[in-house]
Amino acid sequence: MKRVFNFSPGPAALPKEVIQQAADEMTNWRDSGLSVMEMSHRGKEFTEILETTKNDLRALLAVPDNYKILLMQGGAIAENAIVPMNLVGKKSQPATIDFVNTGHWSAKTIHEAHKYAKVNVAASSEDKNFTYVPARDTWKLTPDAAYVHICTNETIGGVEFDYTPDVGNVPLVADMSSNILSREIDISKYAVVYAGAQKNIGPAGLTIVIAREDMLGHALPICPSAFDWKEVADHDSMFNTPPTYPIYIAGLVFANLRRLGGVAAMEKINIEKSTLMYNYLDSTDFYKNSVSIANRSRMNVPFVLHDASLDAKFLAEAAQNDLVQLKGHSSVGGMRASIYNAMPLEGVQKLVAFMKDFEKKYG
Ligand code: PMP
Repeated sequence: MKRVFNFSPGPAALPKEVIQQAADEMTNWRDSGLSVMEMSHRGKEFTEILETTKNDLRALLAVPDNYKILLMQGGAIAENAIVPMNLVGKKSQPATIDFVNTGHWSAKTIHEAHKYAKVNVAASSEDKNFTYVPARDTWKLTPDAAYVHICTNETIGGVEFDYTPDVGNVPLVADMSSNILSREIDISKYAVVYAGAQKNIGPAGLTIVIAREDMLGHALPICPSAFDWKEVADHDSMFNTPPTYPIYIAGLVFANLRRLGGVAAMEKINIEKSTLMYNYLDSTDFYKNSVSIANRSRMNVPFVLHDASLDAKFLAEAAQNDLVQLKGHSSVGGMRASIYNAMPLEGVQKLVAFMKDFEKKYG
């Protein structure tokens, strides 16, 4: 079988052993005679898959008992509307939401929120082209905001929070789509965490929401029932038919993660992988990453070649070496190596070796 190292930002590489297990079980899940895709979401088999998946996620992230885990659809972009529709109702209208703008995904979230609330950009790193996370003491928060929103890892810019901000009694909400399960976090510091699945969790189509119980039950009347977190929680993520197959694959990923030592073990490897990348990038003028050192993402490593006319050659030769999907996002150009949990250290070693060879050849 052809082996490639897949640096896609998402949908991203999944652990090989998970893909293999899914293949083995594809036509006949545990001798049920059924593929998971064919199972009733209310049947005994799928109910077991759903419960195990949620319990494993709870264990991996040490989610406290007073938080609900919701398995939803729509992705993080839908949550950009779903979050305000569920939370601004806690306040008298019009409510204000505070945002920290650290790049592309924060900006998209802010744009959507205008439909539901007054928006205050409490801090932004636009002054330096979104290459850092503004220090907490520079944020201009609204005392009575409905919530404060951050994106803990900007997937395109490669900018990651290196701290969990203290925002007092105002609920802290985080888009963790591209760094959930990659490093240890204290869920109790957040009121709501959400993430699309297609980076560190499983196939696209599943959205995880982890919400403190007091965040439920405030949905605006315009909020579709299927996106009202209280409805979803009261129906154990079965208000509508959940994305059953992505949930099953997420369950395999979680079980695999637990076998490997959980989030702490992943974090160690992720530090090792990203350090290898950044140390090399900093050792040469041939490539460059512009993110401030403290906020360099462990998950997404964007870089440019000193001579952009070599970009196409770089991508073609990388692919010949089985290093694929390294093209940067169209809005920023250059390259991006996404090195989520499923990327083994060996893949990063191979990429760095290739980059060194490429530099020797064209430098
Ligand atoms: N937030 C972040 C941090 C992301 O990386 C992405 C997707 N790359 C999104 C939001 C949007 O996710 P989706 O397209 O699944 O809605």
